[in-house]
Amino acid sequence: MSARVEDKLFLDRFKVDEESHLRIISPKKCLKDCSQQACLYLCPANVYRLETDHIAVHHEGCLECGSCRVGCPHLNIEWRFPKGGYGISHKFG
Ligand code: SF4
Ligand code: SF4
Repeated sequence: MSARVEDKLFLDRFKVDEESHLRIISPKKCLKDCSQQACLYLCPANVYRLETDHIAVHHEGCLECGSCRVGCPHLNIEWRFPKGGYGISHKFG
């Protein structure tokens, strides 16, 4: 049985809501006060990406693991589950 993360992610299915369930509360704080920008490294789905002048949130790939919610040192991420019927569904086997 394969243990590669890519193979496991292949089993997941997403129904994407256009409205993001993740929001950076203060984008300015990310650039001015957050030296480590942990969200860029702790998200297993690479949802947070550094652009020229801001951190973009690609919510469509979110695995709903909650790591960014607790890992942001400035509590600067508004986090909720996607609306009912949207988000990730895990398939096993
Ligand atoms: S860890 Fe939090 S404060 Fe820092 S860049 Fe990411 S969202 Fe912004
Ligand atoms: S909940 Fe997990 S997968 Fe979703 S954005 Fe946060 S760290 Fe990434």
